[in-house]
Amino acid sequence: MIPSTMQDFPLSVAAILRHGARVYGGSECVTWTGGGPPRRATFAEIARNAERLASALARLGVRRGDRVATFCWNNQEHLEAYFAVPAMGAVLHTLNIRLFPEQLSHIINHADDQVVIVDDNLVPLLARVVNELPAVEAFIVVGDGDASPLEANGAPVLRYHDLLAAEEPGYAWPDMDERSAASMCYTSGTTGDPKGVVYSHRSTFLHAMAVQSASMVGITEADRVLTIVPMFHVNAWGLPYGAFLSGATLHMPGPFMQPEHLTKFIAQEKSTLASAVPTIWNGILAYGEQHEIDLSSLRSGTSGGAAAPRVLLERFEERYGLRIIQGWGMTETSPLGGMAFPPPGVEPGTSEDMDWRLKSGRVAAGVEMRIVDDSGAELPWDGEAVGEIEVRGPWITGSYHRDPAPQKFDDGWLRTGDIGTIDDRGFFQITDRAKDVIKSGGEWISSVELENHLMAHPAVAEAAVIGIPDPRWDERPLACVVLRPDTTATSDELAAFLAGKVARWQVPEYWTFMDEIPKTTVGKFDKKPLRAHHKDATLKIEHIER
Ligand code: AMP
Repeated sequence: MIPSTMQDFPLSVAAILRHGARVYGGSECVTWTGGGPPRRATFAEIARNAERLASALARLGVRRGDRVATFCWNNQEHLEAYFAVPAMGAVLHTLNIRLFPEQLSHIINHADDQVVIVDDNLVPLLARVVNELPAVEAFIVVGDGDASPLEANGAPVLRYHDLLAAEEPGYAWPDMDERSAASMCYTSGTTGDPKGVVYSHRSTFLHAMAVQSASMVGITEADRVLTIVPMFHVNAWGLPYGAFLSGATLHMPGPFMQPEHLTKFIAQEKSTLASAVPTIWNGILAYGEQHEIDLSSLRSGTSGGAAAPRVLLERFEERYGLRIIQGWGMTETSPLGGMAFPPPGVEPGTSEDMDWRLKSGRVAAGVEMRIVDDSGAELPWDGEAVGEIEVRGPWITGSYHRDPAPQKFDDGWLRTGDIGTIDDRGFFQITDRAKDVIKSGGEWISSVELENHLMAHPAVAEAAVIGIPDPRWDERPLACVVLRPDTTATSDELAAFLAGKVARWQVPEYWTFMDEIPKTTVGKFDKKPLRAHHKDATLKIEHIER
């Protein structure tokens, strides 16, 4: 054995910041303001503000390892906190602004957040829990809107811009152990209590390298990236840090998440890439049916967080020539686990091309994946065998914050709770969440597959399928359907539409029509309330002949 001669240089958020500010100092963060001109700041300015913010936080008593939370939209100040907090050695905790009050106070207290940075227009939401946060020592309000409701806590309520104005740039970023905590994010809690995932400097750096690599999102200095995915949803999928490594300009929508604003932003600022969950893409598509929109600057879109229906990808391609590429990941996986770029030789725009793009992803370099059966035995990569997906790697969590949760791990692998297949080239397909799979007569029905077929029907805007108890078959699918405005379709018609696309016995005989499918805090279909409504017998269910 000979020792390597390589320097033991720590991978850190400060290193990402230094690179972006130095090499791509002229790249920008552009924040949409809804009406007036967007706010612009160069990466060099962001870096100087991050230094000022770190000085201000240090003056407030924030030390290494202390938690500083953000309760913010995607905007310039949030980006400054993304760099300042980890680079000074503290831990950034991005709070999901859509959590129920009891979940919000629970995670702020569980993470032991000492400082909370909050956008002024979100003060009313945070104020709902302000009396339940004994450990918070200061609130820092971005903007000059009313912040008086926060005063009930007793901790000082300070203004972001005053704090920064009082400081000079030039904070000396400390040397960090690359394994120390940089930031944390709680899972959305759709399957139980939210669990805290803590990212290290090392995992953040390596993940950002992966994000900007050409086989993943592939961003460069020539890109302008509209980060629709919230900065509280798994680090905005790593795009802010990836942008500082690659020089890509960041487009931040602020609170203006409506399709009208997003599409104006794209057209005006010529975004080249946009990242969002399928429900947001769907909203843009629906808006585009009624309004003239210009997406011609987009060279690509990315969709993740839930399976993108085929019809969604097809319509964007047909109407706007926009190629949306799916990715897969979780809060626990930083999130990037794979992207579904078709292999070479497949003609873009063909149905074969679409088949590949409907895979959930191809395993990212740096991530190892396997599928296992119920007994834990590994299954072959043949594209046929179905099992639980397990992953490990340098940006995959190995436990949870103050909760080792051994049931979520299998011999060093994270059990994802996702069920699917992998083929011999590492393309994997999620067929369902383990808890959503419908077990009918000893066979499995994929709720995702039924939903995707249903949403291809011209009259269907949204569809979610859940398993309901059945005395004969154990479970049968109940299709919950939202029709498009001014359209009609009966359950018989929709069942006939499905027949031929899936095996006959998989076609649901139970149907219910509703105004909207409930959504989770990050905009995915939320099946928990649907199951609860079914249990309480508050759904009006039609039963048709099979
Ligand atoms: P979250 O931690 O909230 O980001 O949720 C992670 C979960 O979202 C995964 O375990 C999957 O169930 C789901 N998910 C993410 N990306 C995809 C995708 N491309 N296709 C299907 N499900 C996905």
